[in-house]
Amino acid sequence: MTINLLDFNAKQLTNYCKEIGEKPFRAKQLLRWIHQVGTTDFSAMSDLAKVLRQKLSLIATVEAPTVISDHLAADGTRKWLFSVGTGNGIETVFIPEANRGTLCVSSQVGCALACSFCSTGKQGFNRNLSVAEIIGQLWWVNKTLKLDLVNTTANNITQATGENRAISNVVMMGMGEPLANFENVVTALDLMLDDNAYGLSRRRVTVSTSGLVPAMDRLRERCPVALAVSLHAPNDALRDKLVPINKKYPIKELLSACQRYLQVAPRDFVTFEYVMLDGINDSIEHAHELVKLVRDTPCKFNLIPFNTFPGSEYQRSSAKSIQIFRDILMQAGLIVTIRKTRGGDIAAACGQLAGQVQDKTRRSTPQVMEVAR
Ligand code: SAH
Ligand code: SF4
Repeated sequence: MTINLLDFNAKQLTNYCKEIGEKPFRAKQLLRWIHQVGTTDFSAMSDLAKVLRQKLSLIATVEAPTVISDHLAADGTRKWLFSVGTGNGIETVFIPEANRGTLCVSSQVGCALACSFCSTGKQGFNRNLSVAEIIGQLWWVNKTLKLDLVNTTANNITQATGENRAISNVVMMGMGEPLANFENVVTALDLMLDDNAYGLSRRRVTVSTSGLVPAMDRLRERCPVALAVSLHAPNDALRDKLVPINKKYPIKELLSACQRYLQVAPRDFVTFEYVMLDGINDSIEHAHELVKLVRDTPCKFNLIPFNTFPGSEYQRSSAKSIQIFRDILMQAGLIVTIRKTRGGDIAAACGQLAGQVQDKTRRSTPQVMEVAR
């Protein structure tokens, strides 16, 4: 069986080199060829000994998921659907802005946590993505945007950031709950941060979680990056309904985990995501309750206007009630942003990613609980 080198972080690649009788420093060269140049062909890796190139061609591959479709929205947002085998597909979204380019990466085929307002959650769960399937999304898009000379948006970002790349930020906010696929996600994070691979700053890589408390503690120890937490409700009764994992890890425990995380986090605040659902969690009372709740947690709020999807049971809060909600939070001294809806015309906005999820019989919360510990 051939080994997919896209599955390895620097340490694992070094071990692999040792295993096949090569010097450890070969790992660094390989990382650069694979992730920075985007090469899949070992024979093109000109600073590797010829024998090694030949050996690798026989025993290894560099294999990312293949693209099924590629859609460009009117606002420049671009969405790819990748095949991950047996009829399953995952989605990845690139969001260009004036001063940064953000890639929204998926971590699972579907999601078992079944938040009631989320299209991915409604799809059910099939399986965790491998490291190659997670980092392969960044690998592919990075390579595509670099090659895409006519992509002026990518060029503009490159100029604005003064960096030679279109992707300056990664958010683990695509399909799936990243912390329920812990090992593979952190190995992919290692590569995002590695100077021989993508060299992104810890502050510009964000993991978003619905609140798997034990895994938040593990992330804090293993690979602290910026943290976003999907709060969505100011009390347990409501959060139990919207984010069912709350029944296992209620708000009080979640906020303590946030405070522990902040002791080592690269940013001195947690971002709370709060989806604005009309008549559900968007009242003046909810806003006041929220202010009290987070009094002791350094945080910023990101209000996300609900994005509809086929079969969704909620409505988006009106612009007026989102504004009133924001003003109450701001008057209490909180920093609040309202997330712009991007790529709505190609169903690329938050919570709209559906991909293709086959064999949903594997949807089972207990299974995910095991992985999360
Ligand atoms: N599983 C992780 C990350 C993926 S979802 C998590 O839940 O945090 C990224 C963000 O989009 C989360 O805050 C999620 O709650 C939010 N979201 C899900 N469905 C949405 C929808 N239909 N409209 C707006 N935001 C949504
Ligand atoms: Fe899963 Fe996040 Fe969607 Fe909830 S919001 S179902 S945790 S992807």
